[in-house]
Amino acid sequence: MIELAGLDVHYGAAKVLDAITLEAKKGVFVGIIGPNGSGKTTLLKAISRVVAPTGGIIRLDGLPLADISSRDLARSVAVVPQETTVGFDFTVRDVVLMGRYPHLGRFAKETKWDLAACDRAMELTGITHLSDRSVNAISGGELQRVIIARALAQEPRHLLLDEATSHLDISHQVEVLTTIKKLSGEIAVIGVFHDLNLAAYFCDEIIVLKNGKIEAAGTPAEVITPATLQKVFDIEASVSIHPVTGKPLVILLPLSREVVKNDCRVHVISGGGTGTEIIRALHRSGCRVTTGVLAMNDTDYAAATELGIACITEPPFSPITENSQAALAAQIAAADLVVLTSAPVGPGNLDNLRVLAEAEKTPVLFLADDGRATLPDYTGGKATAYLDRMTAAHRLEVVTGNDLIDRCTHWREK
Ligand code: ADP
Repeated sequence: MIELAGLDVHYGAAKVLDAITLEAKKGVFVGIIGPNGSGKTTLLKAISRVVAPTGGIIRLDGLPLADISSRDLARSVAVVPQETTVGFDFTVRDVVLMGRYPHLGRFAKETKWDLAACDRAMELTGITHLSDRSVNAISGGELQRVIIARALAQEPRHLLLDEATSHLDISHQVEVLTTIKKLSGEIAVIGVFHDLNLAAYFCDEIIVLKNGKIEAAGTPAEVITPATLQKVFDIEASVSIHPVTGKPLVILLPLSREVVKNDCRVHVISGGGTGTEIIRALHRSGCRVTTGVLAMNDTDYAAATELGIACITEPPFSPITENSQAALAAQIAAADLVVLTSAPVGPGNLDNLRVLAEAEKTPVLFLADDGRATLPDYTGGKATAYLDRMTAAHRLEVVTGNDLIDRCTHWREK
């Protein structure tokens, strides 16, 4: 187990790690993400005693790092750096075998156990066929797998990976990380990741660093959110839960909010996918969008949360609680415009319309390409009566999708 408590590291006067506390236990693959210069490599260097902390403590299997002999440290911690150069014309097998040196006595020759560990490591990283080749005559990606094999041959109790697979092609990335993931059941693994989707897929826990501090920590789903990515990397991204892997999937959104600035606050009342397109389009146009009340299994809910848009929610097939009604009334009051789609209305979601009708002030844009304010009404006419009431009060206007975006982006001119 690797434990860090209140770890500080300075380079001269500059504090590059600030009060870092984390734990990597056997069986938990811990990933570190963060922008360049946030301190990721320094963190691994502190754990492998390449840089000395200026505060806090590091423990490996309960022992303070400072009390561990160099030999024990060399045996128990393996590091795979981002890039390695091997100066001499060693064979692949020679380099992998170097992973065994910390285990050998002085001048001792490697035993059959050492050779077996070396063979196993080469097999796990798929480089057995290269074993007699010179490391100077293989590709960069192959060399990186050799270095990973050397770390595995060492049979460490703690494995530190610094963007160790970023130079590999995707199939080898997945292969090597799958191997390491399996190993993480036996040993403590901390890996710095560049690729957010690989981190989300392979890691059990993710620590997000920014300016030397932990900005967020938790499971991939807790940590990899549009809000955190925006805050830490200054990127706009959609995050959905992948239906097959069940892990967060990050897609960068090329249309940045910087392109179109717009401060219109729009609340969208929709359901059943009738709001998905308009929620995305409003978000792209830079509006400050809120949504709900929506059931958590609703397609519109998924569209909103993918973009990090706030949504008032209820569990599937549940009525709209008084709390949610109050939250909806507050959102409507705070909005400049409400967008209403022609989602079917039944007893379960009728309160959305009632709260909207009772709000009285905020203008309502009803999204309908046929120009008519109608919706599938399964409430015996109550939903339609709320619509009529808003139309009669000149609060509700029927608009098409294109007009709607135009209205929201030029709402001040109206
Ligand atoms: P990351 O791995 O997240 O890109 P690093 O840990 O490499 O970040 O660097 C963290 C900060 O420390 C950066 O501002 C970097 O410029 C600085 N830094 C890294 N190594 C040294 C060093 N040897 N001497 C002085 N400053 C350094």
